[in-house]
Amino acid sequence: MTTAFDIELKQRLDALREQNLFRELRRVDSAQSPRIQIDGKPFLNFSSNDYLGFANDPLLKDAAIEAVKKFGAGSGSSRLICGSLAPHHELEETLAQFKKTEAALVFSTGYAAAVGTISALVGKDDIIIIDKLVHASIVDAARLSGAKLRVFSHNDLDDLEKILKWAQKRAASILLADQRPKILIITESVFSMDGDFAPLKQIIALKEKYGAWLMVDEAHATGIFGKNGRGFAEECGVSEQIEIQMGTLGKALGVSGGYVCGSRNLIDYLINRARSFIFSTAPVPAAAAAATAAIRFIQSSAGEKRRNLLWKRLTQFRSKFGGGAMGSEFRVHAVGEPPESGTPNLEIQVSEGSPIIPLIIGEENKALEIAAHLRTRGIFIPAIRYPTVARGAARLRLTVTAAHTTDDVEQLCDALGKLELGKHRTSNIER
Ligand code: PMP
Repeated sequence: MTTAFDIELKQRLDALREQNLFRELRRVDSAQSPRIQIDGKPFLNFSSNDYLGFANDPLLKDAAIEAVKKFGAGSGSSRLICGSLAPHHELEETLAQFKKTEAALVFSTGYAAAVGTISALVGKDDIIIIDKLVHASIVDAARLSGAKLRVFSHNDLDDLEKILKWAQKRAASILLADQRPKILIITESVFSMDGDFAPLKQIIALKEKYGAWLMVDEAHATGIFGKNGRGFAEECGVSEQIEIQMGTLGKALGVSGGYVCGSRNLIDYLINRARSFIFSTAPVPAAAAAATAAIRFIQSSAGEKRRNLLWKRLTQFRSKFGGGAMGSEFRVHAVGEPPESGTPNLEIQVSEGSPIIPLIIGEENKALEIAAHLRTRGIFIPAIRYPTVARGAARLRLTVTAAHTTDDVEQLCDALGKLELGKHRTSNIER
């Protein structure tokens, strides 16, 4: 029976279809790896965040199996009731030692970490300043907190300073129970959809000048950047100046879950105030044990080798698309058009060192078309569309991982080279 409720939802879904924004799930019948099976067909997967190829690594799987044997499948309750199992504590100790912070706290997802942390730290009298391109979890958390929200243009330090000046003035004019409103700046270190980097040193200089706090989401940096894989903050040598370091265990660390690292006071405060931590069942012990194994592996010489493998594959890709040369151009022909015609309709930003490579296409339908075309060549890179990115900024978000072989990357380059899509522009993004 079709109810009025269903009719209403169908209309909404039809509107999404009309705008080429309808999404559906694709069932993957294999483990996460460079080779995946969808609808009985094999694909080379260049869309995963499993940058180090950990998701299906025997080391992590064994750790998870051992944890299941010893601690069971579920954790029984929230951490504050009776679910704070040994694997959670071990993971938090390992994380804190890895990130060189006093303490760490694990959440069930990175999304939950952002929501719980931000809404615990600031409230309606405070000010949050975010980069325009931060992840949805941060935007949602900022809105939920009720704080005054200001957005600075992506990586634009002048714009950030302008907003900080305004915030400082506003904070100085308000005195509440002997307290001035707090100013919290939030950015990602490596941006999830563009693969570029935040100017962390300069942002820190600004936050210190204006007496703000800084939270950095290292979701796409933890495990791969920095001498020891601690993240991009380590690479910039600024970890100690960041009040709140957050991230996820679901990308380079190959498992799932979110974390916050910082001072003991920060972590104790979150245990008492972060609602997504307090009112949610603890992560399963298998996930915690596998993440601990991943962090230990990253810190070993084998981990360093694995990271080097990732950079090798990226260099291989870059040598085809732009060769690492600043602003170099790569030209292929347009679909159904002669080789030299047409305006550029595909831009490949090959950032210096990030495994996230956006193929900016623009129109949503075109992005879907190109993704479908690549599938016919056995390459899986789904189209990323609004609301994940801005309207008209649809793209194929290509990721290269340490688990890809040279032949895999070769096959990708070959498929991209034969896309016949007009002009590829490659540009390097400074680190
Ligand atoms: N921050 C960023 C930058 C992300 O890309 C993501 C995941 N897409 C998250 C946070 C959320 O992490 P999780 O997937 O663990 O919820």
